[in-house]
Amino acid sequence: MATIDGLPPLREVLQTHDLVAKKSLGQNFLLDLNLTAKIARSAGDLTGADVLEIGPGPGGLTRGLLAEGARKVLAIEKDSRCLPALAEIAAAYPGRLEVINGDALEVDPLAHLTPPIKIAANLPYNVGTELLVRWLTPKHWPPFWESLTLMFQKEVAERIVAKPGTNHYGRLAILAQWRAEAKIVMSLPPEAFTPAPKVHSAVVHLRALPEPRYPANAATLSRVVAAGFNQRRKMLRASLKGVAPDIEAKLEQAGIAPTERAEKVTLEQFCRLARIVDGQE
Ligand code: SAM
Repeated sequence: MATIDGLPPLREVLQTHDLVAKKSLGQNFLLDLNLTAKIARSAGDLTGADVLEIGPGPGGLTRGLLAEGARKVLAIEKDSRCLPALAEIAAAYPGRLEVINGDALEVDPLAHLTPPIKIAANLPYNVGTELLVRWLTPKHWPPFWESLTLMFQKEVAERIVAKPGTNHYGRLAILAQWRAEAKIVMSLPPEAFTPAPKVHSAVVHLRALPEPRYPANAATLSRVVAAGFNQRRKMLRASLKGVAPDIEAKLEQAGIAPTERAEKVTLEQFCRLARIVDGQE
């Protein structure tokens, strides 16, 4: 059966190139091109943007991103078995797909990309959170990317968008929401993937804000939040004891009860506390 881009259906691509999914590489493929087009559209208008894709696999999402008008897609794939399938896509979209065979944790993609840059990926779950944290903690803000559209296990997606007072609220929520707008834009059942994973998945869209929501030094904020959530059942006056002298007074100055637990503290309060710890208030 013909597809919208004239390339073979993805099941056929898997057969032709003998691509049997490897668990060790977190391979759960999306084979429905309507679905991959929908994920590509959730990344917003791609025309005139370069898109960095991590782990293209047989290229379902890659095809969606190109069909949706990305100026260029730079795809980093660790599994060399996927390269012939990706070469077919590159031939169908001349000059618009560059593939790097390597580990996304080691390759620096910046030399291959021109702003505006968006990132979109059905990430390998084993490296997804690490990449997200890297993208959220660059040396300078705003970062090199405008938006991230990323597939995660549903539980991780919920941790990214969590609000104070909920079970999933923690370091990842603070990190993501301090300098970006984060929302879940799609939920997917295990059957959407081949092979089906054990867990549900969700696509998260993060848009980089031009400036942090509240001023704070990134390293201090990270230290305060890490100490608070490392012992999330403890009262803050105990969990933050090592962070700064006289922490009870500082907590009170920030409008936080010293007997409170980290999971109840808002982003605004954490930022204020970080400024107080730094002597800026
Ligand atoms: N994007 C494809 C799709 O939606 O069907 C494949 C998604 S699959 C969940 C994850 C992909 O990431 C696999 O193709 C796997 O080989 C690749 N991968 C795993 N670890 C990687 C790494 N460290 N760097 C680059 N690619 C990686």
